[in-house]
Amino acid sequence: MYEHIFIQERQAYDAIVVGSGITGGWAAKELTEQGLKVLLLERGRHVEHGRDYTGEHKAPWELPFRGRGDRRLYEAEYDVQRRCYAFGEATRHFFVNDRENPYEHDPDKPFSWIRGYHLGGRSLMWGRQCYRWSDLDFEANLREGIAVDWPIRYADLEPWYDYVERFAGISGQPEGLPHLPDGPFLPPMMMNCAEQHLKAGIERAFPERKMTIGRVAVLTVPHNGRAACHYCGPCERGCTPGAYFSSLSATLPAARATGNLTIRPHSVVHSVIYDEEKGRASGVRVVDYETKEMHEFYARIIFLCASTLGTTQILLNSTSSRFPNGLGNDSGELGHNLMDHHFVVGATATIPGFEDRYYFGNRPNGIYIPRFRNLGDRATRHRDFLRGYGYQGGASRAGWNRGMAMRGFGADFKHRLREPGPWTMWLGGWGETLPRHDNYVELDPEQTDAWGIPLLKVHCTWGENELAMRKDMAEQAAEMLEAAGCTNVQPFDAYTEGGLGAEPGLCIHEMGTARMGRDPKTSVLNAYNQVHAVPNVFVTDGACMTSSACQNPSLTYMALTARAAHHAVEEMKRGNL
Ligand SMILES: Cc1cc2nc3c(=O)[nH]c(=O)nc-3n(C[C@H](O)[C@H](O)[C@H](O)COP(=O)(O)OP(=O)(O)OC[C@H]3O[C@@H](n4cnc5c(N)ncnc54)[C@H](O)[C@@H]3O)c2cc1C
Ligand code: SF4
Repeated sequence: MYEHIFIQERQAYDAIVVGSGITGGWAAKELTEQGLKVLLLERGRHVEHGRDYTGEHKAPWELPFRGRGDRRLYEAEYDVQRRCYAFGEATRHFFVNDRENPYEHDPDKPFSWIRGYHLGGRSLMWGRQCYRWSDLDFEANLREGIAVDWPIRYADLEPWYDYVERFAGISGQPEGLPHLPDGPFLPPMMMNCAEQHLKAGIERAFPERKMTIGRVAVLTVPHNGRAACHYCGPCERGCTPGAYFSSLSATLPAARATGNLTIRPHSVVHSVIYDEEKGRASGVRVVDYETKEMHEFYARIIFLCASTLGTTQILLNSTSSRFPNGLGNDSGELGHNLMDHHFVVGATATIPGFEDRYYFGNRPNGIYIPRFRNLGDRATRHRDFLRGYGYQGGASRAGWNRGMAMRGFGADFKHRLREPGPWTMWLGGWGETLPRHDNYVELDPEQTDAWGIPLLKVHCTWGENELAMRKDMAEQAAEMLEAAGCTNVQPFDAYTEGGLGAEPGLCIHEMGTARMGRDPKTSVLNAYNQVHAVPNVFVTDGACMTSSACQNPSLTYMALTARAAHHAVEEMKRGNL
């Protein structure tokens, strides 16, 4: 291991925020807007909004490998990241190099850790689907005696959902469903003709189920100085008009405008410094990404927003005589109860008709079928599993490349491929996973990365509840498509035991490992995301989650972060922090 050179930064800040992704961007915005001097530490490189979206609007023929990428390079250096649908030749620079950023998992329990280490984090590549949680989710653990109870309820978060949605701009259709609360939506995107037809068919056959347009952090009208979407399609390459919400398009410009923000890229946070006398954290240790020098920075409060596993790695690595097993780990729960959503299961089908119809542009959104299982009444109860799932999907027409799977040759064949193919529908389930103590991460006692930080070891599998739910997810998708008049209905499930296809991590909704709770003996964080035993350290990324619900989680992280940041400033004013 190299020798660390310690450099103490004399200038102290009011707050340090670690990580500049979705949650770090929100923490920086809220804390600076309330007058705090904030140091934002980001382990990756600087990315300039617009200028550094080098893949944006590039046609395949403008890319060296025509969009198919350098297979040999991918195999050698991006073996995990290439499993993500958004990874490709035009986006590789937004994903980590797996060889340079190793982690471990059990050989028979694969875990895909999909990461983006740069300014903006995964807010640059995310899918932007945004759904609120409800008390069906916040009360589930208590109701079923699973893990621990959330220390908050929907009423605690509702004003903060409103707050972050108003700023971010979420387009969607209000539906009045108690378990999927509406928000102050921007105008919804439109379903295409085939989706409208399916919606009518599904809701006729299953009156208790709904199909709605996806709720998405993409602007359908100009909003807060950002332009409306022009439907170009591959958002994960970046969006110069800022039509989708990211740290670079929205929260960091707001934080910068206050004059209170200092951003320090290439700053790999190694650990939190704990002051034994004061019983508080005093700052963080940082390894410079390039020089490998160790720096120390000080502040009154610290927000850890380095993503679920990044934050937990920092906490586990923050040892002292008071906390020999990681900062705030009195409960022994730090690192445990890792969750993700389980997916890549559902059905595909052909939709007959509508051959004279097409759609406008590439809508960066799909449809959503909200959860309809185990809603708390007898009618929706499923005896084989707890909790539920929702579907995402969409209808489209096959393009010329369908010819690769067809027999034929010659001019007639090519001319026929110039016409759009039949309408096809894809319905994929996103399922809740249960928090289990035996799904956990720990630090490797021997191996460190290039910055001297112990490697993370992940131990995680799907349990019986998830596998029973998957069966229903495939069956119900097929039943709904059949009931709506589709043909060629094909259920699918990519899960293989101990193999790849639908392994934990791949859904990129990793959650838990520093859960919130009411009791310091069984949880790491309190109801305001403060480490129970070190209240000037806040964890507001997915590490804080006590259960996983089935809705995409980032909107909930945003609301929790904004709420915690306001609480932190109030506590500072009261002299408690
Ligand atoms: C392709 C894709 C599609 C997705 N689709 C959706 C979706 O539709 N809806 C949804 O809700 N979610 C979606 N997600 C997940 C979403 O991106 C994450 O939930 C969200 O970004 C988490 O925010 P975060 O701030 O916790 O972490 P990130 O956005 O990952 O940011 C973490 C930041 O911390 C930095 N960091 C890490 N470790 C350190 C350290 N030691 N020191 C300093 N900095 C550090 C990283 O470099 C990074 O910039 C998707 C993700 C991907 C990749
Ligand atoms: S589809 Fe819309 S949001 Fe996505 S990159 Fe294009 S303009 Fe931006």
